[in-house]
Amino acid sequence: MTALDRVSTKLAETLPHAPKTTPTQPTTQFFWKTYKTPLIWINVIGIFLIHLTALIGFITFPYLYHKKTFVWCFFVGWAGGFGVTAGAHRLWSHKSYKAKLPLRIILILTYATAGQNRLREWVRDHRGHHKFSETDADPHNANRGFFFAHVGWLMMKKHPEVLKKGKQIDCSDLFEDSVVVFFEKYFWPLKLFFCFIFPTAVPYLVWNESLYWSVMSTIARYVSGLNFTWLVNSAAHMFGNKPYNRKIQPAENLLVSLLAMGEGWHNYHHTFPWDYKAAELGNYRVNGTTLLLDAFAKIGWAYDLKSPSRELVQKVILNNGDGSHR
Ligand SMILES: [Zn+2]
Ligand SMILES: [Zn+2]
Repeated sequence: MTALDRVSTKLAETLPHAPKTTPTQPTTQFFWKTYKTPLIWINVIGIFLIHLTALIGFITFPYLYHKKTFVWCFFVGWAGGFGVTAGAHRLWSHKSYKAKLPLRIILILTYATAGQNRLREWVRDHRGHHKFSETDADPHNANRGFFFAHVGWLMMKKHPEVLKKGKQIDCSDLFEDSVVVFFEKYFWPLKLFFCFIFPTAVPYLVWNESLYWSVMSTIARYVSGLNFTWLVNSAAHMFGNKPYNRKIQPAENLLVSLLAMGEGWHNYHHTFPWDYKAAELGNYRVNGTTLLLDAFAKIGWAYDLKSPSRELVQKVILNNGDGSHR
């Protein structure tokens, strides 16, 4: 480089629109050392406070004396989980089966009970996650560390690649479903009512639970549900074996499957995302969602359930697996 080139390069760097050098790819380190998008402080504080409240609720809840409230929370949490796994995930994101109107209504109401994002955001992020797994365009890229993949991604602005590539993801099919159109239109009232107001009002009004425990148990149930979903993005992308595709990060994780109603068989799921079971076998003990979907299939409300043939799965295991398949 000549002296003149050096001067013009220096000059170019001082201009207002000079191209900025892009930071190097983060490695799997601690979240606070690798974040490269600005934090959204309101989310950071909100997420911290709600977790602190839930923790206090978990530790101090009188489990032996308030059994009805505990069982109620369990039931509501389970309903919300079903809305996320069978609805947002297996039906609306992956179209792995079709559902008749009554089932779609159940799915949208249970999804509202979980209190997560707008459905179109959920589906766009999830399709992006499958398409661009473990890259900067993956909204919860597990290469940015456990904390980022779990919850950190909700505490900061999205990476520019997520925004850019996210726009290319077609979610127009969602709005062909009148149930989704209705939900998106009345998102906030539905979310507030089914996730917070109704689950709090039932113990308070039906068996005279104190207002304090009615509210605290709702918060604890809500926060647990969020964390169970997030574990699929964090733990199931880091810990477990890879019997179907050894070259990808998603793994088979029993604990996540237990907590997330069968969504932890993640190596399989990333290999066959269009399988309604999200696991090779409908092992109902650790795949509650599949159990319910099969029950709905029996009465005809779920139909066109997609699954690969045994031969195809065997072939994939032999060719791409890590040899851990039993
Ligand atoms: Zn995944
Ligand atoms: Zn998926």
